[in-house]
Amino acid sequence: MDLGIAGRVALVTASSKGLGRASAEALAAEGVKVALCARGRDALAETAAAIADAGGEVLAIPVDVTDPAQPAALVATTVEHFGRLDILVANAGGPPPASALDVTDEQLVAAINANFATSVRLVQAAVPHMQANVWGRICCITSSSVKQPIPGLALSNAARTALWAWAKTAAADLFPSGVTLNLACPSLHATDRIKELGMADGDVPVGVPADFGRVVAFLCSDPAGFVSGVALQVDGAATVGLL
Ligand code: NAP
Repeated sequence: MDLGIAGRVALVTASSKGLGRASAEALAAEGVKVALCARGRDALAETAAAIADAGGEVLAIPVDVTDPAQPAALVATTVEHFGRLDILVANAGGPPPASALDVTDEQLVAAINANFATSVRLVQAAVPHMQANVWGRICCITSSSVKQPIPGLALSNAARTALWAWAKTAAADLFPSGVTLNLACPSLHATDRIKELGMADGDVPVGVPADFGRVVAFLCSDPAGFVSGVALQVDGAATVGLL
């Protein structure tokens, strides 16, 4: 299928590794120019070089996306470099495991900032550039826990569900201006971090990051223009509820 996005410009945050990197690579393979960010410079440079070696146009920006000033700065830097912004893939690292009754105030604030407010800030900064061209695609990487909370991950469950509720509201507001907003919701995927933690060794289905990236690219494609306000499970049928 022709995704119809060659020449478009994307900002993919938290993208030197894992699902963010896979999303950036999938978009670049479609001819999309990609701006990347991560805190660690070495992995970011390695990912940018890999995308460039494969023929992609890439800009690497070494920042912490959860710093409240960075979403607007990232969007501005991307537009300054590439001249426009059409696609946003909003991603950040996940919060630590925590049982619901033990979470500290500090942990709550950090999780809401990283996994809810950061995505809101990114969307708010990106949308005017998309609306100016009456075309935009936004995909937030979250977790299958927006449909089925995961025991022991109270912080992640809470922050991601807040984002889902916000995104559902925002998608309806955005659609008339040509901008779609969806969530891609992974269950366990074999990123380096998950493999290092030994979490990909059990009996549960484990997804392939590159395939997840291609699902994100589809949600950001031209023919997906009537798909908005969706939280798409990418979970090998792991979620059992009727949602
Ligand atoms: P990962 O392999 O650990 O990669 C995380 C990427 O994000 C790295 O490039 C990391 O680079 C960057 N990053 C993390 N925090 C950042 C920050 N504050 N600012 C900028 N960049 C940042 O993680 P992943 O497995 O791809 O997971 C991505 C998201 O999906 C997370 O929210 C995770 O909780 C969620 N998720 C993952 C799975 C799974 O099975 N993989 C399942 C459900 C949900 P630096 O550390 O250098 O900044």
